[in-house]
Amino acid sequence: MSARPTRPVLGCIADDFTGATDLAGMLVRAGMRTVQMIGVPDQPLPPDIDAVVVALKSRTSPAGEAVAESVAALRWLQNSGCRQFYFKYCSTFDSTERGNIGPVTDALMTALDTGFTIACPAFPENKRTIFKGHLFVGDALLNESGMQHHPLTPMTDANLVRVLQRQTQRKVGLIDHVSVAAGAAAIREKIAALRGQGIEIAIVDATSNNDLLEIGAAIADLPLVTAGSGIALGLPQNFRNDGSLGAQAGADALPPVDGLRAIVSGSCSSATQAQVAHLIGTGVPAFAVDPLRLAAGEDVAGAALAWAAPLVGQGPVLVYATAAPEQVRSVQAEIGVERAGALVEQALAAVAKGLVGMGVARLIVAGGETSGAVVTALNVSGLRIGPQIDPGVPWTASLGEKPLALALKSGNFGSVDFFAKAWSVLP
Ligand code: ADP
Repeated sequence: MSARPTRPVLGCIADDFTGATDLAGMLVRAGMRTVQMIGVPDQPLPPDIDAVVVALKSRTSPAGEAVAESVAALRWLQNSGCRQFYFKYCSTFDSTERGNIGPVTDALMTALDTGFTIACPAFPENKRTIFKGHLFVGDALLNESGMQHHPLTPMTDANLVRVLQRQTQRKVGLIDHVSVAAGAAAIREKIAALRGQGIEIAIVDATSNNDLLEIGAAIADLPLVTAGSGIALGLPQNFRNDGSLGAQAGADALPPVDGLRAIVSGSCSSATQAQVAHLIGTGVPAFAVDPLRLAAGEDVAGAALAWAAPLVGQGPVLVYATAAPEQVRSVQAEIGVERAGALVEQALAAVAKGLVGMGVARLIVAGGETSGAVVTALNVSGLRIGPQIDPGVPWTASLGEKPLALALKSGNFGSVDFFAKAWSVLP
């Protein structure tokens, strides 16, 4: 048996953090050893990785910034050895009239000197399907799904050919369900026909997982793919077919991490509230961070760490700001939404850093923004993706000499016993 290659083959650029995690999880599920980098990396990649996802925050930034960051990420991925590239956006095609899906796609095509790519946010398993170029969310057209009211990226047109055409000078076309249903060879023929008509980007219909697999097989030779995370299902097989990817098993293996356990929660989503209540019910010691005490200038993080010091050696501890909606509203009314958020994020990040200083090496963080603050405070540059705890939330290990095991759970993810379950996945 030949050894697995040590250079990655697939390089991905995701336009937000949770989207990057979603894609990375899909790739691991499909048997690729995957690392998620936080922002455009400035260091070499560790060996023995098959796929890399660079997580940007470019979904709603000015188009020029999104383009510059995406191209910088592409250059780093090329230097790391990747040979196919994947621009990942949301499965509801979240973008404004002017971008950023069109401008970033254009720039990546130019940088890769390629004259054709696809655009396919479909993910039938998650009820995102495309038929005749129209995106459905469940049974509703995109523009009737609630997405028309999105505060930052309102989607008022379900016809993705039209939506994308407004964002790019390149000609946009459609690979419709007739070609997709006929399989990979028919999709390749359609691509050739569209290219003959001067079309450079094609929306692709997909209504089932099988469609995603056929599309995946048909696009093996495209230097650039643009998609939601669904299309990732079909790509690993291409690399297996050409011998550049080994067998499926073990893609989610993490380096062993020994150390104490803790949970930091800054999410107030309803799932997290139930999970925190459940955990406290099991007798885990818990410290509540009070945003009003933070606003009064008290060293609440210091108090939390002094509280944790004698306890953390005996088992997991919880430090949380999680609160019910009426409590959050009253705090926000008193000190402002942004100030409350920032104060709590800073305090929890300081707590996480202090806990790691005390020997915590297995840390669960609840909350998307909270996780961002914690990984920044811990100087984490990238995460190796490990086994899944619940759908969308894997254990990860930070890159570097002394890896930390981190589980970053945003908002409404996870079952009620998520925290206890997490320890059983990573004992
Ligand atoms: P989620 O993933 O559930 O949306 P986030 O961490 O992204 O969680 O967002 C929660 C926000 O609410 C953060 O900015 C956090 O600092 C803030 N927050 C947490 N607890 C409280 C609280 N008790 N009062 C006010 N704001 C809070």
